[in-house]
Amino acid sequence: MAQLDTRQKLEILADAAKYDASCASSGSVKRTSRDGKGIGSTDGGMGICHAYAPDGRCISLLKILLTNSCIFDCHYCINRKSSNVRRARFTTDEVVQLTLAFYRRNYIEGLFLSSGIIRSSDYTMERIVEVARSLREDHHFRGYIHLKTIPDADPALVHQAGLHADRISINVELPTVAGLKRLAPEKSAGRIEGAMTGMKTAILDTADARKRYKSAPRFAPAGQSTQMIVGADAATDGDIVRKASALYDRFGLRRVYYSAFSPIPDASAVLPLQRPPLMREHRLYQSDWLMRFYGYTPGEVVAAADDATGMLPLDIDPKLAWALKFRGSFPVDVNRAPRELLLRVPGLGTKAVGAILAARRWRRLHLADIARLTVSIAKLRPFLIAADWRPTGLADRLDLRPLVAPRAKQLELFA
Ligand code: SF4
Repeated sequence: MAQLDTRQKLEILADAAKYDASCASSGSVKRTSRDGKGIGSTDGGMGICHAYAPDGRCISLLKILLTNSCIFDCHYCINRKSSNVRRARFTTDEVVQLTLAFYRRNYIEGLFLSSGIIRSSDYTMERIVEVARSLREDHHFRGYIHLKTIPDADPALVHQAGLHADRISINVELPTVAGLKRLAPEKSAGRIEGAMTGMKTAILDTADARKRYKSAPRFAPAGQSTQMIVGADAATDGDIVRKASALYDRFGLRRVYYSAFSPIPDASAVLPLQRPPLMREHRLYQSDWLMRFYGYTPGEVVAAADDATGMLPLDIDPKLAWALKFRGSFPVDVNRAPRELLLRVPGLGTKAVGAILAARRWRRLHLADIARLTVSIAKLRPFLIAADWRPTGLADRLDLRPLVAPRAKQLELFA
């Protein structure tokens, strides 16, 4: 490997990290600096990613790889062993110093660190842990740390990572075991799930211990997350939705991230030549929200997909697709329906539903009241009843879909 200075390494290793989508920090707990030794917050620059928490807070993280060299050869990965890319490797101290320098200048609020595997999984994991340990213990770093861990590494090392990081993630990589075998043959679904189980247990045990003893050590207080690559194998949206739901249930994940596969230079012949539409990734995120915040079961989300292909429509969101398919559940009376039914109305988000529930305690709501809470009343009108409005012939209207679907121009943005 040619001698590179820190800036050249940063260029390579920040660019290599951009393929990882799982860079967000919802659920973090602010680290306070009681001893006055802490340092520490935001703007852009090389290697800085902006992540949004569910409360809308934007945080900036230095998002880099420790190295983009790897002994594995996952077909979809630009850093795989057989890939012809410029390689670079940071020392642990370089990552520590870069993080501190960016943090002191208020460029970032934390670090997202991942790595290719060098020498062995344990050797790499030791270095990832050492970065986090040094930041916390040697430099009293109170910022956010998100570590990507290696499922093959010694569980004791993975545990160490959780003691220093706010969030831990372990990528499941692909939605199906068959896809993983084909595209990442050196990885094992069993080992990945084993590591996620270990992480879940440690998070729960620590949270329990901290309820009883304030002095109990923290362990990944922002939980664990994972990432799935979309469009690199034959998995349908239905497969992906079911997999995501199982991951939330089994491992108590905070987030599942979906990353549309993007063709890479010198791509392996087993990969598709084209990336899936970005809109597909967007629809999967919407499905994810339906399951987490709108009370839809995975089966209901899958039912919104095309029966023949198992794919969610790209031209309309899954909530609207479900409403069009199950018209018998509508119209919903905004003055009487419970929250869970209001959440089913296309175009009504959780905030709008909250506002409706609060306002109707005092008076009956008219269509104009609802219009003030939404972007487009045209999308909602066929699905709701208001004091001065009742739609007719909902079940039979053949022109309903074009009437409520967004214009094609808007979709082009995501094509
Ligand atoms: S182990 Fe990670 S870095 Fe290495 S080839 Fe596979 S996905 Fe890429």
